[in-house]
Amino acid sequence: METRVRFAPSPTGHLHIGNARTAIMNWLFARNTGGKFILRIEDTDPERSVEEYIGQIVEDLKWLGLQWDEGPEIGGSFGPYRQSERLEIYQKYVRKLIDEEKAYYCFCTPDELEKMKKDSHARGEAGFYNRHCLNLKPGEKEKYLAEGRKPAVRFKVPDKTSVIVNDVIKGQLTFETENISDFVIMRGEGIPTYNFAVVVDDSLMKISHIIRGDDHVSNTPRQVLLYQALGFEAPKLVHIPMILGADKSRLSKRHGATSLDQYRIKGYLPEVLINFLSLLSWSSESGDEILTIKRLIEEFDFKRISKSAAMFDFDKLNWMNGHYIRNADLNRIVNLSIPYLQQAGYPVDDVEKIRKIISLVREKIDYLSQIPEHLPVFFQEKINIVNGEAKTMIRQESSQRVLWSFTRELDGIAELDQEIFKNIMKVVQKETGVMGKNLWMPLRIILTGQLHGPDLPMTAEILGKEKCKELIQQAIYK
Ligand code: GLU
Repeated sequence: METRVRFAPSPTGHLHIGNARTAIMNWLFARNTGGKFILRIEDTDPERSVEEYIGQIVEDLKWLGLQWDEGPEIGGSFGPYRQSERLEIYQKYVRKLIDEEKAYYCFCTPDELEKMKKDSHARGEAGFYNRHCLNLKPGEKEKYLAEGRKPAVRFKVPDKTSVIVNDVIKGQLTFETENISDFVIMRGEGIPTYNFAVVVDDSLMKISHIIRGDDHVSNTPRQVLLYQALGFEAPKLVHIPMILGADKSRLSKRHGATSLDQYRIKGYLPEVLINFLSLLSWSSESGDEILTIKRLIEEFDFKRISKSAAMFDFDKLNWMNGHYIRNADLNRIVNLSIPYLQQAGYPVDDVEKIRKIISLVREKIDYLSQIPEHLPVFFQEKINIVNGEAKTMIRQESSQRVLWSFTRELDGIAELDQEIFKNIMKVVQKETGVMGKNLWMPLRIILTGQLHGPDLPMTAEILGKEKCKELIQQAIYK
């Protein structure tokens, strides 16, 4: 049987990092098994669904490179793929359940339901729906309709049975129906609830595996009861453990950025998020942590999903992103960096210069929006030495000799590049007899303003002969 999995976001906010992981795992499984990855938008909650978020989620998935085989924009044989366009389908199945007396109309108002809950709590009960509308007296239904009440539909939960769920990760789970109240499957406006729509869609879309976060485990018995009532076979269930912050509480904004687009904006690479998020609750048998998408697809296996919660380690994500940035094709990193330079007000027209700068700066960063912090050195107008130790060093007699000798050599060359810089330094060493730190540090201080910084010969090349000369002139005692 063909594998068919789906990612089913509700457009009630930005794509959460946990949901992005769910999408990635579905996609990896589909690609691993040669099956289909389906995108379904669960937008039936009119109060919480926002059209704009659909576009953003779609863009985020595209940015990650998780191309879907069926879904919005491209269609497919089991569409439509937006729940708001499937209302008639849900209504048909609701009618079927009503006709078979597996569901019933409920006319209770929110106030009545609230009171019912309070009264039963007061009696020390769980606060379940009391089935008032399952047993309406003759004429009551007509009376309510005449009052203009729009009935919801409730599922009649079978009395005193056990619902057995076999989860691929969690094993066998048993739920007792005495703990489940008759729940609403369709609201008064003819709009299905999540539990109902998801069951109808996963069945009609022939989903073979439901891979989702384990915050949905509590919904599972209701869904299994609906599969049984509708005569559908339930897909295999794969609930992935949740993601925790460093303090072991559920990952939230408190811990750091939780929506995927924040990472895109800060300058993380999409393949890093795929690599990093895959490793939350899953691991490669090889123990390797840096994994190409090809390897992730080949190696993905439910057997290697752990049962315990995963910890989101921001330091590890930064380390991984830095690693990828340093190892990626330089032209790609340059192109991705340009918007950050522009945003910070740096000129980008000298592409060769930018390329050289990025080749140096990428050694120092974890994510691309950190680039501007490292740029002042390459665009300085005047020398600016703040460090006291550096200031003292420049005043030393040996430093001054080095700088004089360096300028003289500089005058003799047409253009400066890193090789010429190194050669000049050899000559300066011979000429002055100054060596090691005392030889290099004065130039580092003048050219970068700091005691530590980027590779010096390359920095000199980027600054160019004239700028180097200009900066040294400002520090030489004449
Ligand atoms: N729309 C649900 C959510 O975003 C989907 C849950 C599921 O995969 O069944 O949480």
